[in-house]
Amino acid sequence: MKQFNFHEAKSVKEAVKAASKNSAFLSGGQTLIPSMKLRLSSFSDVINVKNIKDLQGIKVSGKSVKIGAATKHAEVASSKDVIKAIPALAALAGGIGDMQVRNKGTLGGSIANNDPSACYPSACIALNAVIHTSNRKIDAEKFFKGMFETALKKDELVTAVEFTIPEKSAYIKIPNPASRYALVGVFLAKYKKETICAVTGAQPVVFRSKEIEKALNNNFDPNSLNDLNLKSNEMNADIHASAEYRASLVITAAQKAVINCK
Ligand SMILES: Cc1cc2nc3c(=O)[nH]c(=O)nc-3n(C[C@H](O)[C@H](O)[C@H](O)COP(=O)(O)OP(=O)(O)OC[C@H]3O[C@@H](n4cnc5c(N)ncnc54)[C@H](O)[C@@H]3O)c2cc1C
Repeated sequence: MKQFNFHEAKSVKEAVKAASKNSAFLSGGQTLIPSMKLRLSSFSDVINVKNIKDLQGIKVSGKSVKIGAATKHAEVASSKDVIKAIPALAALAGGIGDMQVRNKGTLGGSIANNDPSACYPSACIALNAVIHTSNRKIDAEKFFKGMFETALKKDELVTAVEFTIPEKSAYIKIPNPASRYALVGVFLAKYKKETICAVTGAQPVVFRSKEIEKALNNNFDPNSLNDLNLKSNEMNADIHASAEYRASLVITAAQKAVINCK
């Protein structure tokens, strides 16, 4: 690992002030540290944000659940408030990686990294999340731009994510057996007037499946997806799963999500 300056930020203001073109925020370190150790990335300054008070905690109001960016996956998974308000979100967090990853990795780090196989981006899209940053609020639909690419500026810190509470929801992941990242993950959220189906792992960036949403808006039943075929030429293909297999997994996961919606 190359040498760098380490900053222990005590506030959002301090973190942003220390940021530059050549710096990185450090949260759970589950992605940043390995990528620096493997020399895939290097920075002049690393700014630790995980101890900033304003980035901690979970707050449930009537319509939404607001989670601080430095909140660990294990905290979301075990939060009684999240389990009560959006059980699928707690289950998603509880299914991330392994125990160590869940006790270090954070919500802010996950969405800022925007790995194409990460779980949280699908929850952000399906739950109409608003991403709070050091200087603005961004709708999830505008936040996830492409593979490992977001709407964040270099010195912009995610401070919290605010999720809308749906009537019912479910997250179904077909995990890579080694890493537990999603080969395909489907987050389904049912609202009074519509159902949103957000898919991760299948394409370079999280997306809404309009075909699945249309079928489920007509009839919220797993059988309404029986005859649906998604285009495989838009799907990711790698040593773990072909594009055709991923296209079919999306349908299977969506059907399971309908059955498990609560
Ligand atoms: C073995 C393994 C298995 C995993 N399995 C899964 C899985 O099943 N599902 C899943 O979704 N994820 C999985 N992950 C990812 C993991 O859960 C973390 O979410 C992810 O590694 C990044 O979060 P972090 O808090 O560790 O961020 P860091 O590694 O600290 O940072 C990641 C990136 O985000 C930036 N960043 C961090 N915090 C902020 C912030 N507040 N504002 C702006 N930028 C910020 C950093 O500068 C860096 O570029 C896995 C990781 C590992 C190592």
